[in-house]
Amino acid sequence: MARVLVLAGTTEATELATELEAHGTEVISSFAGVTSTRRSRPGRIRTGGFGGVAGLEQYLTDEGIDALVDATHPFAARMPFNAARAAAAVGVPRCRVLRPPWLPTVGDRWVSVPDLAAAHDAVHSLGARTVFLSTGRQSIGPFASDTDLQLVVRSIEPPEGLPSSAAVVLSRGPFNVDDECQLLQSHAVDVVVTKNSGGDATAAKLVAARQLQLPVVMIERPPQPNGPIVETVDLALSWLTTVICRRA
Ligand code: NAP
Repeated sequence: MARVLVLAGTTEATELATELEAHGTEVISSFAGVTSTRRSRPGRIRTGGFGGVAGLEQYLTDEGIDALVDATHPFAARMPFNAARAAAAVGVPRCRVLRPPWLPTVGDRWVSVPDLAAAHDAVHSLGARTVFLSTGRQSIGPFASDTDLQLVVRSIEPPEGLPSSAAVVLSRGPFNVDDECQLLQSHAVDVVVTKNSGGDATAAKLVAARQLQLPVVMIERPPQPNGPIVETVDLALSWLTTVICRRA
């Protein structure tokens, strides 16, 4: 039986583990251990960093991994490069699952920026006062120390180091447009700041911002390593079928 390592942390990783087990493939889902709770899934689970490229090389060899699917979040900046280097070094086929980014549509008022610092600058350039920040609890950056802004921060687990005036909304997607409109209006938000994560689960805030004619400061994605990239779980399964047949 083939053994696949899935680098997890996304809905695609959960779906992939479910599909692989259903198709009789052994799957190990790997988590960084950033959140204390996660969605259940079939197969083995391991938690915590591997110890850099060398640690992952060792793990791939020790566990006899046949293929690696990197389904980490589009904003995971380090793990995809570590995975690419380690898999190449020990000859394990690897592909990256990367859902398409969100694209602006008619009525959107987006400002695209490369990182959190630029997002902070953009918020000030827009003259905004109340910011809905949905960048994740570990990506608050310069917003945390800015007492001129009223922050409304949404995250799965409580963020640390926020000013006492910040409003914290703890919840995990998917979200719907009506609730997002209600949230933005009840806090009198005048700008939305988000990462361009893509996907359906958290896209409702963008529709809500459009309906309320609010600007969105969109942090664009970090670079990805060279190598195969697939956009969906189905395409990842097709890729796996090909590489596992080739190795058999
Ligand atoms: P990162 O910068 O790419 O990773 C930092 C380190 O965490 C890696 O070098 C690795 O440690 C470990 N790591 C990351 N993903 C791992 C995995 N799936 N299994 C085992 N170890 C992992 O990523 P990050 O931004 O800190 O995010 C950490 C995790 O949270 C990722 O798995 C990602 O999918 C998830 N996540 C991130 C975001 C985001 O906005 N960044 C959003 C939602 C979910 P070693 O070098 O020791 O192996």
